[in-house]
Amino acid sequence: MSLLSNRISREELQPGDHIYAYRKAHAYSHHGIYVGEGRVIHFVATKEKTRSTREPRCSDCKNDPNTARGVLKTCVDCFLKGHGLLRFEYNVSQDRFKFKHKGTCSTESCDPRDETVRRASEIFDKDPTHGTGFGEYDLLKNNCEDFASYCKRGTSVSEQVVRAMSVGNSFADSSNSSSTSSAASPSRIDDADNNSKTAFLISKAASFFSSVS
Ligand SMILES: [Zn+2]
Repeated sequence: MSLLSNRISREELQPGDHIYAYRKAHAYSHHGIYVGEGRVIHFVATKEKTRSTREPRCSDCKNDPNTARGVLKTCVDCFLKGHGLLRFEYNVSQDRFKFKHKGTCSTESCDPRDETVRRASEIFDKDPTHGTGFGEYDLLKNNCEDFASYCKRGTSVSEQVVRAMSVGNSFADSSNSSSTSSAASPSRIDDADNNSKTAFLISKAASFFSSVS
């Protein structure tokens, strides 16, 4: 991995890596956990989509993109969908953090790799058929980055959401509504107290604004 880019080769992948790939011309990024043996556990929309075209089932991991929902275990190709492989960094210094794009790294620490793999596998194993082991997907409150962050740290706060709130003016909406995912993952501290999550997000947003000047 170079100093400024998080791009890695597949040979560099290690079980427990939090990986991501940009989609739709950098409009958003999709996140997941590499669990070894060519497989990634990641969280996609839980609601059924209406599709105008059907995509073929993957011959490697048997993922069917037409019906796949929730927490999935797929091959790396199904995760990347033709985009570049990037690795999210933890424990970066404040100096380095200032020079990195948001949503690519964190100054916070993460748990050991085997613990990350264990968490991802545990959530997937809860419901490998319907993928509801992490609750309902919600772009603002329970998304793919929340899932990866939870597996790495045991808590889930999406940098992507902080950025979305800073530009989308949707902060009031999300802070007034209660979380819907506490039943699925009661151990997540951000669900235990929505007010503390709001306070945490405000502090994250403040640090974001101070770092972009
Ligand atoms: Zn596949």
